[in-house]
Amino acid sequence: MRTNERGLAYGGGWLDRAAGLRTDPGWIAARLTDRESVLLPHWRDRCLVAADRMPVRLAAVAAAGLLAAAAETVFLGLDAGRAIFAADLSGRPEREALALAGAAEAVDVRALVGALTPAEAAVQAYAKGLLHWHRGQRYCGGCGAPTVARDGGHTRSCAGAGCGRLLFPRIEPAVIVLVEAPGEPERCLLARHRGAPEGSWSTLAGFVEVGETLEDAVRRELVEEAGVTVVDVSYQGSQAWPFPAGLMVGFRATAASTQVRVDGEELVDARWFTREELRARVADGHPLGRIDSIDHHLLGSWLNRVI
Ligand SMILES: [Zn+2]
Repeated sequence: MRTNERGLAYGGGWLDRAAGLRTDPGWIAARLTDRESVLLPHWRDRCLVAADRMPVRLAAVAAAGLLAAAAETVFLGLDAGRAIFAADLSGRPEREALALAGAAEAVDVRALVGALTPAEAAVQAYAKGLLHWHRGQRYCGGCGAPTVARDGGHTRSCAGAGCGRLLFPRIEPAVIVLVEAPGEPERCLLARHRGAPEGSWSTLAGFVEVGETLEDAVRRELVEEAGVTVVDVSYQGSQAWPFPAGLMVGFRATAASTQVRVDGEELVDARWFTREELRARVADGHPLGRIDSIDHHLLGSWLNRVI
């Protein structure tokens, strides 16, 4: 199957996550004192950047003060054998976090994505998502006792007597769908979402619910939001979207009819666009969604008949 995930921002498997090694606390401790190891400081969902707006990368071995101040330090993986860690300074005031990291600014990685290499954007987004999860999982949902990180920060375990519940980083999958009209001319369905800027049209998307397959979620979302029944659903690729915990799963589907009835809640309008209409919109200065999004990728692929 030809899929779309190659070339999408925030993924790509750039690091060896070393799942078989990170469970060993001794190995993690040795990496933190290894001269080659790198530390990426973060503050409240933002990466810390230098004056040139490039993310700060510190030698872990020379960052004892920062490590002592960090609420959590997680092992992200190995980059050509070099360990990459991320440290969370969210518990400190912004000015103090910047000073500890020798940084100029705290910036959302999505605001930097055009200037970063794909690997840097992916690793920073991964760090953000994992640290975000830790901040929300300090206490056990079963017994209320504090939890502690283990496995290099890829698990938390409850410290409560007789409990021992394990917590794993949570991913929240959402489907995103490029729907084609039946017959000729070839058209795709785009919607205006409530609160979106005037003239902003995008593909339809929604979270997967408990007890659904991804395909079930596609069919339900289209009926609920746009009154569209689809006759086939095919997987196109996925995108890591750790803002804060998403996984976007892209599909293509064909509608049973061209009838559209928006719900008026999430969607305020939906209509079919030919390729010529989409190209005209792009020429008029309306980009196909965020450049770093799978929405943009699905639409661009459809426009160029890649999928
Ligand atoms: Zn517990």
